[in-house]
Amino acid sequence: MKVRTRFAPSPTGFLHTGSLFMSMICHKVAKQSDGVFYIRLEDTDTKREIEGSGEKLLEQLYAFGIIPDEGYLGDHEKGSYGPYIQSHRADLYKVVIKHLLEEGKAYPCFCSGEELNEIRKVQESKKLNPGYWGEFARCRDLDNDERVRRIQNGEPFVIRFRSEGNHENKIMVHDLVHGDFEIAQNDQDIVIYKSDGLPTYHFAHCVDDHFMRTTTVIRGEEWIASLPIHVELFEAMGWKAPNYAHLPVIMKLDEAGHKRKLSKRLDPEAAVSYFLKDGYPTEALIMYLMTIANSNFEEWILANKFEHMEEFKFTFTKMSLEGALFDIGKLAFFSREILAKKDKETFFNMAKVYAEEYSPSLLALINKDPEYFKAIINIEREKENPRKDYDKFSNLENMISFFYHDNYLKDVSSLPEYNPKFSHDNIKELLLKVKSDLSLEQDEQSWFNNMKDIGESLGYAPSGKIYKAEPDKYIGSVSDVAEMLRISLTGRKNTPNLYWLMKVLSKEEVNLRIDYIISLL
Ligand code: GLU
Repeated sequence: MKVRTRFAPSPTGFLHTGSLFMSMICHKVAKQSDGVFYIRLEDTDTKREIEGSGEKLLEQLYAFGIIPDEGYLGDHEKGSYGPYIQSHRADLYKVVIKHLLEEGKAYPCFCSGEELNEIRKVQESKKLNPGYWGEFARCRDLDNDERVRRIQNGEPFVIRFRSEGNHENKIMVHDLVHGDFEIAQNDQDIVIYKSDGLPTYHFAHCVDDHFMRTTTVIRGEEWIASLPIHVELFEAMGWKAPNYAHLPVIMKLDEAGHKRKLSKRLDPEAAVSYFLKDGYPTEALIMYLMTIANSNFEEWILANKFEHMEEFKFTFTKMSLEGALFDIGKLAFFSREILAKKDKETFFNMAKVYAEEYSPSLLALINKDPEYFKAIINIEREKENPRKDYDKFSNLENMISFFYHDNYLKDVSSLPEYNPKFSHDNIKELLLKVKSDLSLEQDEQSWFNNMKDIGESLGYAPSGKIYKAEPDKYIGSVSDVAEMLRISLTGRKNTPNLYWLMKVLSKEEVNLRIDYIISLL
């Protein structure tokens, strides 16, 4: 069956990571069935609306490759079932409301906030279910003349749905994630039309998903409790209800190791902008979110070498019901894998786009000499097993800064830390020999042999194994030689491959740095 589904955000703020998770699944389910994914903007809560957030949400979805086939597209709409912005559908809701009123399935309610409070107090004292139901639904059976008179007198009113249900009864519902389950029938005369002339979520959901031909409603688990209302509304209108998939929320482990919901207030990673600002590749976050959506995805994508994700078949029944657990360490792992597979030009462009938006200092390094920057990030890249150094672009500047002469001088303002078993004389002697005898005009293997020879001439064993067998015979091994050289040239113990690093720096710069370190010794 071709799935026609939708993402229905309210323009009330940033794109939540949970919403990205949901829209990714909507998009996937539509694509894999050759169906349609559309966007509907649910802007009926005018008090909470934040100007421009609809466009911003779209922009962020696009950044993650979640492109709608239809619907609200910012400055325009596409598709035959619009308008796709709820506030533009006011007339349509009125037609349906009128129909329900005529059929006696809805009625105007004049109860004030105070009256509703009174009702609640009585219910509390009698330990009854709260809400506007049964005998408490005061306006339910007003006579029609009174209704007309009060409306003509200008009394404020809302329209309520007249429920025929009984909370004691159970109904059976089906959900694509949760399967079949029983739930209490609705008995609430819920508000379907507010005094501001706009519908409530429950009513708008039924009307819109019916007229927009939604086959599958994919939404957050928090709506399960409202399902009996929706089932009854669809029945009352004589429409077939769509299939429902209520998705589990994203959880995280707190400091004490307890699982809790990812919180807008407590967790920066609850906002998608966090990942964009930190410079994770968007496809890594999508892949990562798919691992928490479907338990079999991780094995599949590893076997597929992080490629052709579009071929993976998502299934609702493979979702965890306990909530998907977010693990940023795993996201970093996905990122490293994905960034390592990019060719030089692609990586360069991604870094530049990131720097233009978020990091003027990184952009300055890139623009200073784009070819030099490319040479740096291309170290051990385009090969069978590329290096997996980079996880996010916010780390990039720090990781490569030592390649730039001025930054190197800033980092190494005093003598860096070497293995204390070597004296200053050992270091100096080695660096001078490297300066005079180590050529970069040869392949990596010959360069390594060259370094071994230099080491041996100064008393270093040509391998760790030989050194270990006779430690008294040598002052160290070739790996000590490499480490001393690495620290001298970069100020760091961990860097990309030393041979390539030196080639990128150039013999001239290597010699300058050697002279500089000697001046500090
Ligand atoms: N606007 C609703 C929300 O943001 C949409 C729920 C739904 O997908 O039906 O929660």
